[in-house]
Amino acid sequence: MSNKLHIVSLGCTKNLVDTEVMMGKLQNFELTDESQDADVIIVNTCGFIDAAKEESVNTVLTLHEERKEDSVLVMAGCLSERYKDDLMKQMPEVDIFTGVGDYDHIDELLIEKKSKFSDEVFLIDGAERVVTGSTYHAYIKLSEGCNQTCSFCAIPSFKGKLNSRNLDSIATEVESLVKKGFYDFSFVSQDSSSYLRDQNIKDGLSLLIQRIELIEGVKSARILYLYPSTTTIALLKNIAKSEIFHNYFDMPIQHINDDMLRLMKRGFGKEKTIELLEFMRGLPNSFVRTSFIVGHPNETDEMFEEMCDFAKHFGFDRINVFSYSDEETTPAYDMKTKIDAELIASRAQTLGDIASEATNKSLEAEVGSNVELIIDGESDEHEYLLSARKTIWAPDIDGEIYVNDRAKDEDLDFFKIYSAKVTSIAGKILTATVDNA
Ligand code: SF4
Repeated sequence: MSNKLHIVSLGCTKNLVDTEVMMGKLQNFELTDESQDADVIIVNTCGFIDAAKEESVNTVLTLHEERKEDSVLVMAGCLSERYKDDLMKQMPEVDIFTGVGDYDHIDELLIEKKSKFSDEVFLIDGAERVVTGSTYHAYIKLSEGCNQTCSFCAIPSFKGKLNSRNLDSIATEVESLVKKGFYDFSFVSQDSSSYLRDQNIKDGLSLLIQRIELIEGVKSARILYLYPSTTTIALLKNIAKSEIFHNYFDMPIQHINDDMLRLMKRGFGKEKTIELLEFMRGLPNSFVRTSFIVGHPNETDEMFEEMCDFAKHFGFDRINVFSYSDEETTPAYDMKTKIDAELIASRAQTLGDIASEATNKSLEAEVGSNVELIIDGESDEHEYLLSARKTIWAPDIDGEIYVNDRAKDEDLDFFKIYSAKVTSIAGKILTATVDNA
């Protein structure tokens, strides 16, 4: 009887890729949703901010309470990397702590811990990651680590300096996924626009675009997490020229006040940030997503109002709002003028309302337009409504479209790209009619 694996991936899409790498290494395990039945339980944790840390620890402890005797509990990922020594002392419930560099050694770590997981369970030649959640879309990691020094961020302290994958390795991974039927890709890292800068190559993303375009079978791609000061107009033009990469611009700017951007060590001030954003917004069919942090030390009411005013009027398609989280090892942690937690929460609420309004406006502007979409399956809403996503949108975060009718009376295939016309909006969900089934 095969051993059973229960795996939980917390945090961001970069973490998800790492989880998928571990699943690839453990392909001979039978996956189970029932943690009580599992011989191995892995929690791939997030250690980015306080709320994520708490969620990670609670998840591990809950799974520990329910697990069967003789099972192995693994705490992997960012939290484990960041606080390994402390956690080893404080969480004796965990059998294996492993950090961010050990994903493709998870098999060896398990064998070390328990010989019952004999080598034959693991030896899979050329084990590849197992992509979860989709049969046509995959996240592809560009690099690990980060060379930026953002005042509020602890990631470089535990993920280390930027370490880009080479282009060949990325292309090989994409080619192998295309052979399995994947055609839509999201390229991710901490700071994607710095890709290959650690190898003294300034236009890494442009080289990536050229290379991916040569792979037959890739139909749709987008790059997540552009950093302002490493994003060039030349890169934006190359994205715009590409037949495959969408004009999808995900650039977390975090603030817009000049003094705050300087304090945050974001590289670019207000003027240059706006210049880039306006260039993106001016490109055909562009989609601009950003994030802001509220309540960074020294943020005055005036600075916050400036940010709100900008967020309200710029015309972002989507905005993420994060409340400042005080993280040790960061420069902001040592700053004296901290903002009161209640004020941070109220600022987050105010900006959150503006973000919601920005999404509404962006969606309303789609009504009447022709779009390309992928049907993912039946919707949760009604059996006659299909759930779809605009091809430009990133999965899970940018929205859902209901397909409620079609011009021709033919069955629509799931996971296929269609042209459609957006006919209406209800709440935050668009409705469309497919026109070329
Ligand atoms: S770009 Fe800034 S916020 Fe993002 S990982 Fe690097 S240091 Fe952190």
